[in-house]
Amino acid sequence: MPTEILPYTPVESIPGKVQALQTSFHQGKTQLVSYRLDQLRNIYFMIKDNEQEIKNALKLDLNKPENESQLTEISVVLGDLLYIIDNLEKWVKPECPADVPLLFKLASPKVYKQAFGTVLIISPFNYPFILSIQPLIGAIPGGNTVLYKPSELTPHTSALLTRLLSDTLDSDTFAVVNGAVRETSALLDQKFDMIFYTGSGAVGKIIAKKAAENLTPCILELGGKSPVFIGEGLSSYELNLSAKRILHGKFTNAGQTCVAPDYVLVHESHYDEFTALLLKNVQKLYGSVDSESYSKIVHERSFDRLTDIVTRTSGEIIHSGDNSREHRFFSPTIIKDVTFEDSTMKDEMFGPVLPIIKYSSLSSAIDNVVRYHDTPLALYIFSQDQRERDIISTRIRSGAVLFNETLIHVGISQLPFGGIGQSGYGDYHGKNSFEAFTQNRASLTQPFWAEPLFDVKYPPVTNFDLKL
Ligand code: NAD
Repeated sequence: MPTEILPYTPVESIPGKVQALQTSFHQGKTQLVSYRLDQLRNIYFMIKDNEQEIKNALKLDLNKPENESQLTEISVVLGDLLYIIDNLEKWVKPECPADVPLLFKLASPKVYKQAFGTVLIISPFNYPFILSIQPLIGAIPGGNTVLYKPSELTPHTSALLTRLLSDTLDSDTFAVVNGAVRETSALLDQKFDMIFYTGSGAVGKIIAKKAAENLTPCILELGGKSPVFIGEGLSSYELNLSAKRILHGKFTNAGQTCVAPDYVLVHESHYDEFTALLLKNVQKLYGSVDSESYSKIVHERSFDRLTDIVTRTSGEIIHSGDNSREHRFFSPTIIKDVTFEDSTMKDEMFGPVLPIIKYSSLSSAIDNVVRYHDTPLALYIFSQDQRERDIISTRIRSGAVLFNETLIHVGISQLPFGGIGQSGYGDYHGKNSFEAFTQNRASLTQPFWAEPLFDVKYPPVTNFDLKL
């Protein structure tokens, strides 16, 4: 039985929810590491016990194939969760900084990881499960109380998560608000101690402005147009694998992935061979996808936006299929001979349309990326030439840079995940999640007997040289 879709949370109940979370925080409920670990373990078993229900909800909302949900939403988060549970006791220990001058060593300087307090987590629609749980398993080990706002565009997953998390977690330290713009705006009128937002850049700016009114720190996980470079000198074998890896990165979740390869820049020496290989592989891997085996577009508005982009392109469509607005089914689409002025190159694609651009000068290709779509979330460089890799990766800044691969960095807990510039700021996953949700608090304990060593600080100050 699918979980019933929930009504939006009444906005008048929001201040009380936030107040209750703040009170619990100040009562110190989240301070004990054993308490945090209990909450994390409860989340782990909640997920394990409800894997099928989670997949069912994702199927209803986005038509995600079950195996894809298992791989990209459930397994990754379980791995991250176990890693955090295994290491939390080590991470919470205060650190003694190295290289402290002898005199100050007497005061035992330490760095403590301090919880922010009550944090707000706002999640997007495209990976509604993992992009809710993964910030949560940073906020909880950090010792925060949490208000979670799921996406209104995935009502089944949001309702399921609301039920499961509310049943699993301590209601004194965790609460959910369901809703859209009105409810999120009401939340942003409250004073939080930290906001973790995942979503579009346009909304990210609204969040950051509202947060600034209370000097609330934010982490913004945004999107952008992540470019792919196909450099010179690749063998046919390497080009073929490159095509497969790019197609997988692009068409997973029907292109609705923040780190999906957005467009491909191909050196002219490989252009014809590479486009032919893309075509061969897309037919092999995605030629027979249907509404059972391939995600759907989240809503009609997005479907219409993609249709409009493809209708207006000046490039040549070399692969497409039968699209259905009714089923929000948008076939894998590849367009070659695209320019930076094309309709496909204006905004983040966030759908299964792959534009291909031919370049002859690497330098001007890089200039165009920087000029039109600077600081993407990911930069993908297919090249075996270290000099070529260095030129591209130093001239284009990005949240992540991958050589000869796409997407898989997201699943490695030990790597930070986050953007730069237009793709956001702050990072998380694994230990970075714990650090994202804590503040480095400096501390020292000065012995009274050390006074003679510090007497130079009192007025009248005549000599600044401390006796080091
Ligand atoms: P969105 O910005 O429309 O919505 C995200 C959240 O913000 C939702 O919970 C929504 O209710 C809320 N929201 C929407 N409009 C709002 C407003 N005016 N005021 C306050 N809150 C508002 O994003 P989306 O369409 O759900 O997700 C797609 C975008 O998210 C893409 O740009 C994608 O690249 C990005 N994204 C980034 C990451 C990442 O980790 N960097 C991951 C997934 C998605």
